[in-house]
Amino acid sequence: MPVKSGEEVLRTCRSDPGLTGIPIIVMTQDNEAEVASIRAGADDFIKKPYNMPEVILARCERIIDLYEKKTLIDSAETDHLTGLYSGDFFFEYIRQIEHFGAGPMDAIVLDIEHFHLINEIYGRSEGDAVLKSVASAILDELGENFGIACRMSADTFYIYQTGLDDYTGLVKRVTGKLEKVLSTPAKIRLRIGINKDVDKKDSPETWFDHAKLACDDLRRDYTKTLSYYDSRLHDEQLYHERLIQDMDSSIKNHDFVVYFQPKYGISGDVPHLKSEEALIRWKHPELGMISPGDFIPLFEGNGLVQKLDRFVWEEAGAQIARWKEKYDMTVPVSVNVSRIDIYDPKLEENLLAILEKNGLTTNDMLLEITESAYSDNAARLIEVVNSLRDKGFRIEMDDFGSGYSSLNMLTTIPIDVLKMDMKFVRNMLNDDKSLKLCELVMDISKFLGVPVVAEGVEEQAQFDKLKSMGCDLIQGYYFSKPLPPEEFAELIEKEKASL
Ligand code: C2E
Ligand code: MG
Ligand code: MG
Repeated sequence: MPVKSGEEVLRTCRSDPGLTGIPIIVMTQDNEAEVASIRAGADDFIKKPYNMPEVILARCERIIDLYEKKTLIDSAETDHLTGLYSGDFFFEYIRQIEHFGAGPMDAIVLDIEHFHLINEIYGRSEGDAVLKSVASAILDELGENFGIACRMSADTFYIYQTGLDDYTGLVKRVTGKLEKVLSTPAKIRLRIGINKDVDKKDSPETWFDHAKLACDDLRRDYTKTLSYYDSRLHDEQLYHERLIQDMDSSIKNHDFVVYFQPKYGISGDVPHLKSEEALIRWKHPELGMISPGDFIPLFEGNGLVQKLDRFVWEEAGAQIARWKEKYDMTVPVSVNVSRIDIYDPKLEENLLAILEKNGLTTNDMLLEITESAYSDNAARLIEVVNSLRDKGFRIEMDDFGSGYSSLNMLTTIPIDVLKMDMKFVRNMLNDDKSLKLCELVMDISKFLGVPVVAEGVEEQAQFDKLKSMGCDLIQGYYFSKPLPPEEFAELIEKEKASL
């Protein structure tokens, strides 16, 4: 080699990341060079002169074969974007570490909030840059502590490392790195769940399930970045598991009951009962009365809510039919439709079957869909809502103002009623901003040409203000709490008597 020594070439090749996949075999007459070559990164060493060319050929083939296998293994072991381990390999590696005994370790789950929005707003390459910089900050961290990390899913990272007393440093370093890498001023919120000093009697998957619970718990508190798995979360998990287990038998045993809350039309001099909302109640035989706020979000998370919704639609349909027959008047019921129902190809068929079974029409049953469902997958929702409306159903947008609907979206989404989020009404009398937002919702409803229902109206002053603003319908404790059917029937009787 006239210009560079063989050893120099070797070192250059080995320091170039683009050439790492190429095996290098050193062939030389220099007997002394073997150790130096291997140290410099050679894969094999063959001394000249070559006495048996077929042996040399076989050695070359073997090395190439080994390299190809290694590349394959590497690609299964690592996440191509960040260079961290893949999820499968991560758990395999933990088992190996534990086989040799690792001492006290922590399981950490790190999640980037609303990551899909970064992709949508700033583009995929910016999204990739965010993921890479989080991964690189994690690797720096692992340089200081013993541990391993993987990218578990798009924006979720798992870390297994020797326990630290304080993780605020980790937060600072990851956010610091992110701020440097981002070309946009996006404020990125991290959520970090920690299962400290994992219980080695459980499986590694359980350690991380617990860290994930702590991480997800941060959704409830925007002021915090770190959360530790503790006895409160443990008890809550057991409680949730109990609820999940008991749901089926509670449906069979009629422990679930449907209550009705009236909606009064207030545009005239005297309020009139116009319709009511069906709201589920769980009278658990051992745990007592459980509020839907405790189990609906849980069942929404695992899909069980579909079964419960179906139960409510059937109960409400049957009840409405009985009242229609008994009082010879229609008091249409609104039922809640969860976002997951929207993806059920049989939604329409099921609803129509309930109407048919009870001799009802689409005038008797309105459908409430929460606003946040509209931002999940607007295209799918519009398609489903259009199809339901073609069949005659009227759609109410529930909790309007709680989510992210843009004005633009409102003009493309077909709806028949706006239900203003309760928090505006709650604060309208003591907070000018809430009052202005109430007025804005009224204006939007006028623009769309649909009535507004104000929910959560409790006081006379709220009622008066809403009436003066031109609100059409009121639902709230001011008129009545949700009632069991027997008690609700009295409201129908009163209404009938007043006509
Ligand atoms: P939502 O659909 O927005 O229902 C209105 C909630 O406001 C009900 O709470 C009702 O009791 C409460 N509310 C009504 N007026 C007032 C008031 O003046 N003051 C106060 N503080 N609260 C009032 P509830 O029954 O606890 O239900 C909570 C949520 O659970 C519902 O919000 C709905 O999202 C969900 N939910 C209830 N039943 C069902 C159901 O059958 N299926 C589905 N998918 N979700 C349901
Ligand atoms: Mg509702
Ligand atoms: Mg609501």
